[in-house]
Amino acid sequence: MHRTAHWSVGPAEHRGVPGWLLVWARTHTAGFDVVDREALREFGEVLGDTTRALKEVVGTEKVYVAVFGDKQEHTHALLMARPPGLDPGRNGASLLTDFQDLRSPELCRSVATAVGDRLELARQKPNSR
Ligand SMILES: [Zn+2]
Repeated sequence: MHRTAHWSVGPAEHRGVPGWLLVWARTHTAGFDVVDREALREFGEVLGDTTRALKEVVGTEKVYVAVFGDKQEHTHALLMARPPGLDPGRNGASLLTDFQDLRSPELCRSVATAVGDRLELARQKPNSR
């Protein structure tokens, strides 16, 4: 849905929660410790821009970020918009395993598309914010 020189951003299809996205490296590396400096700098920008876009599109106050890489040894991060109106007792890391009732794969894809559109606009007007 969105690409920069070093990163791709798209819906986290395997989880399917609206507002949950993956950011992954466009070339193979096995973790952030071996990503080059320029790509790391760009990751920071992608993280900031994508978090901002998710807040606007989903209407959430929080976007969580998780990096594991146990199953997929390709550098990636999971961005999780905290669902608006979520029971505060479910906030935080427990969402990583307790999300089945929040799944909506169709909406996950359409939110990702809307976020991608905003990222594209931000890229075309880099000095507008
Ligand atoms: Zn790879």
